[in-house]
Amino acid sequence: MSDVRVRFPPSPTGYLHIGGARTALLNWLYARKHGGSLILRIEDTDAKRSTRESIEGILDGLSWLGLDWDEGPYFQTEFEQEHRRAAEQLLADGHAYRCFCSRDELDARREAAMAARGNVGYDGTCRGLSPEEIDEKMKQGLPFVVRFKVPRREGAVVYEDRVLGPIERRYDDIEDFVIVRSNAKPLYLLCNVVDDIRDRISHVIRGQDHMTNTTRQLLLYDALGAKPPVFAHMPLTLDLQKRKISKRSHGEIVSVQFYRERGFLPWALCNFLVLLGWNPGTDQEIFSRDELIEAFTLERISKVNSVFNYRKGDPKFFTDPKAISINAHYLRTMPVEELAGPVKAHLAKENLWDDAYDGARRDWFLHTLDLIRDRFHTINDFAGAGRAYFSDEYTIEARPLKKNILKHPDLKTWLPKLADRFAGLAVFDRQTTEETTRGLAAELDIKPGILINGMRTVLTGQLAGPGMFDILETLGRERVVRRLQNVEHLYHTDNTGTEPR
Ligand code: GLU
Repeated sequence: MSDVRVRFPPSPTGYLHIGGARTALLNWLYARKHGGSLILRIEDTDAKRSTRESIEGILDGLSWLGLDWDEGPYFQTEFEQEHRRAAEQLLADGHAYRCFCSRDELDARREAAMAARGNVGYDGTCRGLSPEEIDEKMKQGLPFVVRFKVPRREGAVVYEDRVLGPIERRYDDIEDFVIVRSNAKPLYLLCNVVDDIRDRISHVIRGQDHMTNTTRQLLLYDALGAKPPVFAHMPLTLDLQKRKISKRSHGEIVSVQFYRERGFLPWALCNFLVLLGWNPGTDQEIFSRDELIEAFTLERISKVNSVFNYRKGDPKFFTDPKAISINAHYLRTMPVEELAGPVKAHLAKENLWDDAYDGARRDWFLHTLDLIRDRFHTINDFAGAGRAYFSDEYTIEARPLKKNILKHPDLKTWLPKLADRFAGLAVFDRQTTEETTRGLAAELDIKPGILINGMRTVLTGQLAGPGMFDILETLGRERVVRRLQNVEHLYHTDNTGTEPR
């Protein structure tokens, strides 16, 4: 194991969303690239908002994505004593002080400062209290918070961000921030640093929204006598209106679970997520796990925010078209044996799974997946557009119904006639069915396309798909004959088909 130790420290206040997953992914990549460790830490100190359900959802989401961790999950609340001790040490060393200002006093001063266009940060009233004054107030039982004593000197906190280069923030711009609340609970800024020191974190890779925390935390490292980690800040992910993607404003469309339910392959989602904020410096977009680990560097994390074009409400592209196209790429090109697992789970959920697909009909199953996946985008398409291969209950879409069936009333007799000829064939395969179809078209003096398109519609419900005679062979004679004999009902006026999914 190398010295690289990174962490993913989610606050368990909701589901795992794509922003969190991207942070986890980038940390995971960095750990794997350098033979280091990824530490999972659940930052559950906000007791009111943290839930068991959220913790489980996060762990489950990470596992599904294939982002394994090497240590943890640790729970921040288990280290509360350590956090308190650190606060006491900071107080004892003169790096922090007790502040007895009440909320009302603070608000009044802030308003006055705002009116005078002055500095609205904490004005330092309690910074200079004498030990006697403090004792006195403590005796009176006045509530207090603990504030960090930001050095009041010229100059700035400076660090080298691995993505953004040198960053500085003037001491003047940093107020004496609170590290322990009046209920004696240490706050995130402190807990997070104490935990990162204990966990020997070497690199903190997190969103740019944490940059104001970073400068304050660097002061804490210094005051606690610890060497700070390297910081690398990632761009934010915005929507098309340039709003930050968040659970609160975007709902389920940004949750990892949503993509799972909609038939995404975990690695395809990772591949998409890495491109939201990192670029390889080439045109390459598809990366296997190993390729990505090889190519990944912090320096290539983008400096500018990325846009997640999820296009809520568009039924065809229910999310970012790039995400869909990357998923489709994997689904269409991965070894069909690997595809079989996720398709099995999906069909089982839809009550379309047959155990024979793992046994006597295994070859048929794999062959069918391979045949039909060419136009599919997600795993859910197998029970959607591909339903007719696994069930007799499927819908005929409106467009092909109108174009290929209703426009040709004679198919009512032609298709059953074709079915009879198929039934009488000595051998039922691609070649014999094609000859039969073309033969009947010639006899009827019509274009073979009329029979072919009609058959496609009746047999699959779809406008387009694999080659017709491949379909016939795959569906098998029994199903083909039965379905082609039963076309009459399609001409009833109440049957208008369904819109494509
Ligand atoms: N719990 C914090 C969050 O979820 C961790 C931030 C960090 O230090 O990486 O935003």
